Amino acid sequence: MNKLITVRTVSDLRAQISVWRAQGDSIALVPTMGALHEGHLSLVRMAKQKADRVCATLFVNPKQFAPNEDFSTYPRSEESDSKQLQKMDTDLLFAPAPSEIYPEGHSTSISIGPLADILEGEHRPGFFSGVATVVSKLLLQSLPDIAIFGEKDYQQLQVIKKVVRDLDIPVSILGAPTVREDDGLALSSRNAYLSEAERRQAPKLYQALNDVALAVKQNADIERQLEVSVENLEKAGFTDIDYLTIRDAQSLLPVRSITGPCRILAAAKLGSTRLIDNIALD
Ligand code: AMP
Repeated sequence: MNKLITVRTVSDLRAQISVWRAQGDSIALVPTMGALHEGHLSLVRMAKQKADRVCATLFVNPKQFAPNEDFSTYPRSEESDSKQLQKMDTDLLFAPAPSEIYPEGHSTSISIGPLADILEGEHRPGFFSGVATVVSKLLLQSLPDIAIFGEKDYQQLQVIKKVVRDLDIPVSILGAPTVREDDGLALSSRNAYLSEAERRQAPKLYQALNDVALAVKQNADIERQLEVSVENLEKAGFTDIDYLTIRDAQSLLPVRSITGPCRILAAAKLGSTRLIDNIALD
């Protein structure tokens, strides 16, 4: 097993990747904000299958947090993250300081268009611009062959695919399936914020998605099921149900009828924690 190399500057990142490129190795990038769990590690596992060298990044990106969000309290655990990556035989960890990514005077940001104004974008203005800016930087800094993102953040995955396509960034973007707890709750670094009682209710979000999927399969009244599922979430203690909706799997626009691949997506708050989840509807 190789020792995990940690770099903190773009020049060290590029130097290490050049060494591997000179040997003919292919590179996979796995961007994360740390507080690693099995969901992140599944991306690393997929990366290892698809490329000779795996580079994980750890950066809590200030540009994707609104002033009222949890940037300062977001869980940070580089030491244990690093150990987990080492155990997975990851080759490289890029863990830059904010000033390395956004040096004094940095002002460019990416504007995505309508895909980033709906769903999460509607409820978290500026979020996708922040994500697209940092991900584009990470891709251009490392120029991997592939970069892997989780379907857990399905709209984010679609936004990144679009940005890469629109800006001709020469990297293949791959999606990886959502890793869940045994009771269905999608793994998320923010699950750590849930109280014990909230944690017991949290899988009801996944349940709501599945209830909607079942209604579609059984040709039941979908609008009615969406209403019932929202009521069920409210009964379980969810508040601020931002959306529970069926969308086209690529454009994420509302669908009139379900003919092609669709996605059921939901976002709601449980206590002070905002949870998102989604499932495929094939
Ligand atoms: P984050 O650290 O939350 O920014 O997530 C880093 C990457 O891990 C993103 O591509 C996420 O979509 C992905 N990810 C987060 N949770 C999961 C999960 N439960 N299953 C699969 N991928 C995930």
